[in-house]
Amino acid sequence: MATRELTIQPTRENKSRVVDAVSTIPNIALMKLNACYKPVDIVRCGISYYTNRYKDVIVDAAGYDKVFVSAVFFPTPDQLKVTNCGDIEYGGSAYSITKSIPDEIAKLKSDYSIYPDADTSYGFITRGCFRNCPFCIVRQKEGNIHLDEPIVNIAQHDKVKFLDNNILGHPQVEQILQELADRKLRCQFNQGLDVRILTDRKAELLSKIRCNEYIFAFDQLSDEKLVTEKFNLFKKYVCSENHYDSSFFIYCHPDMDILDDVLYRVKWCRENYALPYLMLDIACWESPDIEFYLDLKSWCNWRQNWISIPFEKFIENKCFSNKIRQQRSIATYNEGKQNPAKWLKKIAAKNMQVVLDAEQLTTDDFEDLII
Ligand code: SF4
Repeated sequence: MATRELTIQPTRENKSRVVDAVSTIPNIALMKLNACYKPVDIVRCGISYYTNRYKDVIVDAAGYDKVFVSAVFFPTPDQLKVTNCGDIEYGGSAYSITKSIPDEIAKLKSDYSIYPDADTSYGFITRGCFRNCPFCIVRQKEGNIHLDEPIVNIAQHDKVKFLDNNILGHPQVEQILQELADRKLRCQFNQGLDVRILTDRKAELLSKIRCNEYIFAFDQLSDEKLVTEKFNLFKKYVCSENHYDSSFFIYCHPDMDILDDVLYRVKWCRENYALPYLMLDIACWESPDIEFYLDLKSWCNWRQNWISIPFEKFIENKCFSNKIRQQRSIATYNEGKQNPAKWLKKIAAKNMQVVLDAEQLTTDDFEDLII
């Protein structure tokens, strides 16, 4: 595993440093700390959420009196070391789901000067959620839904991405949506909207907002009837009937049946003219099906792939030198219940040399392995 050492010489006036462990979007807590302790120096580590891209990072903080480290994702703490500073404060979900910056700092407007290239504002109009889904930490982390930051504070650019986890569930959501429409901001709700609680009025207000892409969530198969009904209501107001201009997060966990649950929801998107966006739970990385999850994800999370290339064709191109993987992913896609571990066991039982003979497999060999 690669280790990177990051060092920045402290500027004469800066005695504080902030460390952004993930850096995919501007870190709100660090921007508020910047507003408070300004000026600060920043180190952006770019540590990936994905286990196959793990790397260790060492940040040398010699010369600084204080370092604030923020990491949103869970794999980070073991990968990041800060050295040569006696006063280090760690925050973000990777370290603690209950720790937050002090109220007097949270109230400050985010200072984007540590992200000079940012052309989009980020923020939470609300935090928390009235639900408590078993796979989600929002309720434990942020409590029941409540107002967080005024829109006027958040919106420092024409484009704004709201990170609210369930804004449609807030009692004042109609006033909030009206304000967004009046301000004519280019909005996106990054965390997905809870389509299940859509009403005519909310859908009508959403239609008045400048938003290129609406993202919803279809996390549980048991919600299918409600999700379908409410998505049809949304389409009545907001998007054209048969165009792929809305997306659905499709949560995926190894405990979910691939055919009857994950693929069912992916194929539901096709039938309902929506774009799927597969969200892999971290547990998927330990699953024997991880190759299939990654193949499915790389196909359906890209609009052009999803719309114009059949899965089989996409996988043939993606894994052109790995026939075993091609066949396994295509079988799993078509049959769903195909379990790679069982499949390899059956191949072994047939005394086939998996690697050497992979290219010799015939359709017949393949078909009788379908469960
Ligand atoms: S509705 Fe969304 S934000 Fe709320 S608990 Fe469920 S997954 Fe989390």
